[in-house]
Amino acid sequence: MTVQQTAFLAKSQVKAQDLEHKRKIAFNIGKYNDSVVKGKQQFAELELARQKAKNIKWKAINQLDKYLEQFEKKFVSNGGKVIWAETADDALDAVLQICKEKNTQQVVKSKSMVTEEIHLNDFLERNNIESVETDLGEYIQQLDGEAPYHIVTPAMHKSKEDVAKLFHEKLGTEPNLPPTEITRIARKKLRAKYTSAQVGITGGNFLLADIGGVCITENEGNARLCTTFPKTQISIVGIEKILPSVNDLHLFWPLLATFGTGQNLTVYNSVLTGPRRPKETDGPTEMYVILLDNGRTNLLRKEVRESMYCIRCGSCLNACPVYKNIGGHAYGATYSGPIGSVITPHLKGMEEFKHMSYASSLCGNCTEVCPLKINIHEMLLENRTIAVNERLNTNAENLTWGVWKRAMLSRTIMNIAGSGIKSKVVNTLFKDTWGQNRGALEFAAKSFNKLWKEQNP
Ligand code: SF4
Repeated sequence: MTVQQTAFLAKSQVKAQDLEHKRKIAFNIGKYNDSVVKGKQQFAELELARQKAKNIKWKAINQLDKYLEQFEKKFVSNGGKVIWAETADDALDAVLQICKEKNTQQVVKSKSMVTEEIHLNDFLERNNIESVETDLGEYIQQLDGEAPYHIVTPAMHKSKEDVAKLFHEKLGTEPNLPPTEITRIARKKLRAKYTSAQVGITGGNFLLADIGGVCITENEGNARLCTTFPKTQISIVGIEKILPSVNDLHLFWPLLATFGTGQNLTVYNSVLTGPRRPKETDGPTEMYVILLDNGRTNLLRKEVRESMYCIRCGSCLNACPVYKNIGGHAYGATYSGPIGSVITPHLKGMEEFKHMSYASSLCGNCTEVCPLKINIHEMLLENRTIAVNERLNTNAENLTWGVWKRAMLSRTIMNIAGSGIKSKVVNTLFKDTWGQNRGALEFAAKSFNKLWKEQNP
């Protein structure tokens, strides 16, 4: 077993028994589910919108090179600068170099999973640059020294009481503050940071090839402040975020909002096409876009290519029975839940992370709720096939499945029932996995096959 797999199993076991954790997640996902039903009503033809969006992403990813180059050309002609980063280190080095050129000791950041993926905050801290998260959920997580729990709702696992306690401990506020007060305090603290930081860093929800634009979608207005006050702006965006045209946003903005949070449209939607132009009053004087690969081109292989259509709405996480039981941190990866389990083995190594693809009941609910109709559960199976074909499974796993297969294909073994032998063997074999928190398995006295034969002689 790899280190990651061992940690995953240990953390999952703890979380699966944590009833308070389940209560908080069920509460927050419950609110989300109610909103999504309402949000979907804005679509006259929801299925058509989903299919059209999928077709657009199919086109974009099939001609990824063409659209990325088109984006670069246009963005550069708008006065921006594009940096191609093949690895996380390439992206980090580029950010550091820009920060050094600007002689900044502080950057403000808006919410971005890509910057989590490359561990930007830790890197900047090691280089004596303070990186301040300005999204409230991310700010809470940063205060707590924790990674985001969910790709859309970073502090989903915390109740309002937890956050009040955290603010009391870290910022010395009154204990048990209500959410409105907590928000007011965070806002006050962050406002000062926007005006003093020389560099603002964001991610990007979409890249628009035809106009050379970076789209940023957010609910708090903090990303707008990050891209308005600092003189230099850096957007770090995964290459799969490309869309052919600005005209595609009429589909993607509402789909992302509805499937992400249940809103008709997210509150602030910005399209940034470069630095401030002459006569414009706002915006950075310099704007960089770092196009990040970091393993994404591995996802172009046909078995999992559809995963590159993902718009990171988080819907599949909220629908996943495994995620709802073990939570986001147990996965030990930036991208958790069903889509994280598909892409992480390709981004970070199949051998170390293949276990994530097995953390699924294959119920298919993820595929059902995905706005882009991505065949997530089928790709989880594809990953398992790849792992087996590449002989990455351990001997113990191969032996277990070999025995299981033999048993399942043998009518004689299947019919061993009632004597208790089968229950005993299965309960002994699976005592560490199945049996620890559940009652022992008890097989029926007679198999279906036996009953059928008896009743239909
Ligand atoms: S795979 Fe689909 S449901 Fe999951 S985050 Fe991506 S777009 Fe949303």
